[in-house]
Amino acid sequence: MPRIVYSRHYNIGFYGLERLHPFDSRKYGRVWGLLRRHFGSSLSGLHVRPRRAASRDELMLVHSNDYLTRLRDPKYVAGALEVPPVRRLPSWAIDWHVLRPMRWATRGTILAAANALEHGFAVNLSGGYHHAKPNHGEGFSIYADIGIAVAAMRAQQLIADDSRIAYIDTDAHQGNGVCHTFMSDNRVFIFDIFNCRIYPIFDVDARKRVDCDVGINSSITDSEYMGELHNRLPGFLDSVGRSPIGLAIYNAGTDVFAGDPLGGLSISADTIRERDLFVVRELRKRNIPTIMVLSGGYTKQSYQLVADSVIELIEMETAEGG
Ligand SMILES: [Zn+2]
Repeated sequence: MPRIVYSRHYNIGFYGLERLHPFDSRKYGRVWGLLRRHFGSSLSGLHVRPRRAASRDELMLVHSNDYLTRLRDPKYVAGALEVPPVRRLPSWAIDWHVLRPMRWATRGTILAAANALEHGFAVNLSGGYHHAKPNHGEGFSIYADIGIAVAAMRAQQLIADDSRIAYIDTDAHQGNGVCHTFMSDNRVFIFDIFNCRIYPIFDVDARKRVDCDVGINSSITDSEYMGELHNRLPGFLDSVGRSPIGLAIYNAGTDVFAGDPLGGLSISADTIRERDLFVVRELRKRNIPTIMVLSGGYTKQSYQLVADSVIELIEMETAEGG
């Protein structure tokens, strides 16, 4: 049976911060509400609830002590979150109300990885902070949850040290932080389909690290978008090598949706659902343990898009006895 990792502690809501950035910081709770309505009491059999936030030791699997200390500086955090008024708040309040929920979500990504390895497929209803680098936060990404989860699985010997990892990123923005995190880790193979005309356009080094780079622009249609995935993703997965892929991380950003204020693309709701099913099916038919994280999505419909995909994915996995 697949697993859904969620805690109410993921949700950020503080002094109206959620209104200062297009980020829907209560998106996670809203997704959970729709899943509860759909699955009813059977949801509890799928639910994995983090009992705590990620510890400092877990964060330090990727981040330096200096970086974690810098997060006590409101000016620095305001820049990383792209919410300038945060610089006027006390450090403790930023930590409690903003960074702590992100540490809960980071712990959720670790748990999702462990559950995917045991049960085949697990989704964390948050995470996917793909702009966070080992020593720098940007683009609303503070903690490199994906890199931390991979390092935690290796440290706990849940995946072999030489096991190959596939990272598939369909968020509208290029996952530059993930590239920097795995810059010299040749066990990780990166597929990224993204709008190449928007942030982080100047991070040339990150883009060079992508193994399968599918840069798209705002004129792309739904059928062209799916065509790119159909043409490139199966070949990428087959090229990763003869030894089986030990874990896949699917970063399913919904900011490709038409009307998203940051993504600059115009993909329909139906195509986003089709995309998520296609990507996860390609991974699962190769028997690759897979985790899905949510990443960006900045419209009022984002939570509905996520819930629609998660419901279908869970039903697909359950039907196939995964
Ligand atoms: Zn994005």
